[in-house]
Amino acid sequence: MVEEAIDRLLADHDPKGDVVEFLGARFDAGLAWVWYPKGLGGLELSRGLQGIVEDRMQEAGAPNPAQHNPLGVGMGSHVLLAHGTEEQQRRWLRPMFSTEEIWCQMFSEPGAGSDMAALACKAVRDGDEWIINGQKAWTTLAHVSKWGMLVVRSDPDVPKHQGMSYFIVDMHGEGVEVRPLRQITGEAEFNEVYFTDASIPHENLIGEVGDGWRVSLTTLMNERVAIGGAVPPRGAGPIGIAVQVWKERGGDDAQRDRLMRLWVDAEAARLTNARARDNRKVGTPGPEGSTAKLAYAEINKEIFEFAVELMGAEGMLYDSYEMTRPDTFREITDPRKGFLRSRGNSIEGGTSEIMKSILGERVLGLPGEPRVDKELPWNEVPRS
Ligand SMILES: Cc1cc2nc3c(=O)[nH]c(=O)nc-3n(C[C@H](O)[C@H](O)[C@H](O)COP(=O)(O)OP(=O)(O)OC[C@H]3O[C@@H](n4cnc5c(N)ncnc54)[C@H](O)[C@@H]3O)c2cc1C
Repeated sequence: MVEEAIDRLLADHDPKGDVVEFLGARFDAGLAWVWYPKGLGGLELSRGLQGIVEDRMQEAGAPNPAQHNPLGVGMGSHVLLAHGTEEQQRRWLRPMFSTEEIWCQMFSEPGAGSDMAALACKAVRDGDEWIINGQKAWTTLAHVSKWGMLVVRSDPDVPKHQGMSYFIVDMHGEGVEVRPLRQITGEAEFNEVYFTDASIPHENLIGEVGDGWRVSLTTLMNERVAIGGAVPPRGAGPIGIAVQVWKERGGDDAQRDRLMRLWVDAEAARLTNARARDNRKVGTPGPEGSTAKLAYAEINKEIFEFAVELMGAEGMLYDSYEMTRPDTFREITDPRKGFLRSRGNSIEGGTSEIMKSILGERVLGLPGEPRVDKELPWNEVPRS
């Protein structure tokens, strides 16, 4: 059934033609997420069959929606399916998947990163509206986004995890200001976002008031899968770049051993991800997403360090630090850019230290970290 639907889609729509048109047709054919309900981009089939769709799309050279709209397709879609009303799902899923409307995620703040539940951006209800004031930071692709997943403090009088709410905000609305934040690569993929009396209709609330932490977990766990859980073809991605540099320049025996070890590590991570992808169920992925993200971040850094080392003095040269604001994630081909960008892999979506804590607590069953402010009302927690 899936194969037939794919054949029909590819026969009727040019995969190399207009991106929005093709992806819209893929959504309508139920091939966006095969395990989703019919009419919402799915066919109500087993999630395990999604791999067939992805492989056939890749073979046909079709656009990858997760590359054009990574935060929306990789995370927002799962949040809407798990916690959104049917009306919200119908309103947002199709233009998200077709990439007509790009999405961003606004959790982190200058004082709330690893401890996201410490966040202070404030929401106050005013009839059918919520009035938002505060600041978010490191918001990837906010400058091209139409919609943002926003978590705010809606009740400062209860403990931090209980007083947050989750909204979808119009990034083009009044009182929303997006300013670029420049990264080590010279690019500004991410931004600061300021809210000054911005208003969000109550109907854009996801879940219940005060449900923000639970809904955020769906976003975060899917984010880790989106960052670390991709299943590229064998030998592709960063390890492919390192092999290419080796072919062009060679190295000594010790370096060859290192390349082999990195290749085996990258392949083991890729196969583990393929298995996790096929086992994944609807909703919130388990700690396997965090394991994958940890492995991906650490292996990527090692691979690019190695590739730059093989390049010798040339490895220290970099094209240009002129600030650009990319409109999507471009594939990295230059090992020097990979070296710089991969530093962020062990920070974005939760740092490697936080991933290790999750593994320790949720997989190995080790005692939890001390959490002294867990029961205190948020407004009584001392902060700088
Ligand atoms: C490229 C990139 C893109 C990003 N995109 C987004 C986005 O789109 N939306 C968004 O909301 N955020 C985004 N972020 C922010 C990211 O989620 C945070 O940077 C991250 O969660 C870490 O928070 P922080 O920077 O405040 O560091 P901190 O939390 O201040 O951490 C500083 C250091 O302390 C360590 N540390 C902190 N707490 C603990 C602990 N309990 N145990 C052990 N070590 C600890 C950390 O590991 C780190 O080394 C992005 C970040 C990057 C780099």
